[in-house]
Amino acid sequence: MRHLPWQTSAQRRLRNFQVIQTEHQRRAYLQALGIDVWVPGDQPEPDAAPVSENEAVGDMGWTELRSCVAECTRCPLHASRTQTVFGVGNENADWLIVGEAPGAEEDRRGEPFVGRAGKLLTEILRAADQDRGQVFIANILKCRPPHNRDPEVEESAACRRYLERQIALIQPKIILAVGRVAAQTLLETNTPVGKLRGQLHHLGDIPLIVTYHPAYLLRSPTQKRKAWQDIRLALDVVAGQAA
Ligand code: SF4
Repeated sequence: MRHLPWQTSAQRRLRNFQVIQTEHQRRAYLQALGIDVWVPGDQPEPDAAPVSENEAVGDMGWTELRSCVAECTRCPLHASRTQTVFGVGNENADWLIVGEAPGAEEDRRGEPFVGRAGKLLTEILRAADQDRGQVFIANILKCRPPHNRDPEVEESAACRRYLERQIALIQPKIILAVGRVAAQTLLETNTPVGKLRGQLHHLGDIPLIVTYHPAYLLRSPTQKRKAWQDIRLALDVVAGQAA
C-alpha cells in the first residue's frame, strides 16, 4: 500500500483502520453464521507488514527516526555505506533543501553537501540570508550509491518514507529540490530540470522550487544566474508574494 506525502498520518491511520475493521467485521459475520474462520497464527495479513512498518516510521519522532535510519537495511546500499547520512540543520526550519544522495565525502563524514558543492550551496544560502544552520539539508537517499551512480527507483522508493517523515516533522515553508534526481523523484516526473525550474510546484501543500545542483553550477557557472532567480522565487514564496 503506497503512502503519498500529502496524506496525513491521521488519514493513513483511518485507511488502515478501515481495512482492519472490514476484515474484523467479515470474521464476525462468518462466526455468527457458525462458519469456522481460519486465522493465520504468526503470519501477517496481506499488506499488514508494510502498512505497519510505514505507519511506525510515520509516527516516529526525531530520535527514533535517526536510530531507524542508522540501522536501516531496506535496500542493498546498506552493505556498501560507511554510515547513513540522515541530514543536518534546524528541525524547525522554514527551508528544506533536498539533494540526491551522499557522495564519497558525505559518506565519510555523515553529513550532506560537504566539499566544493556543499560550500557553494552554503554561499548561495548565505546570499539569500539563510545561514546553513538555519535550514535543514537532506537527500533523497540516506546511503551512498556506489561510484556516485544515480539512485535506482527501488532504492528511492525504499528510502522515501524517511524523507517524508522528515518533511512531516519539519513542516517547512519551502522545499528547494536541487538537481535532477531530487526534483524528478519528489515531483514524480521525467521532465528535465531546465523545464521544472523557474516555477512554483507543490509537494502536498508545501511549495517546492526546483533549481540546479551546486555540482552542476561548478561545472557550468553561467547557469548561476538562473539558480539565483530560483532562490529569489523561493524567497518570494516564503514571503507570501508568489503563492
Ligand atoms: S538508502 Fe535508505 S532505504 Fe537504502 S539502506 Fe540506506 S537508509 Fe535504508
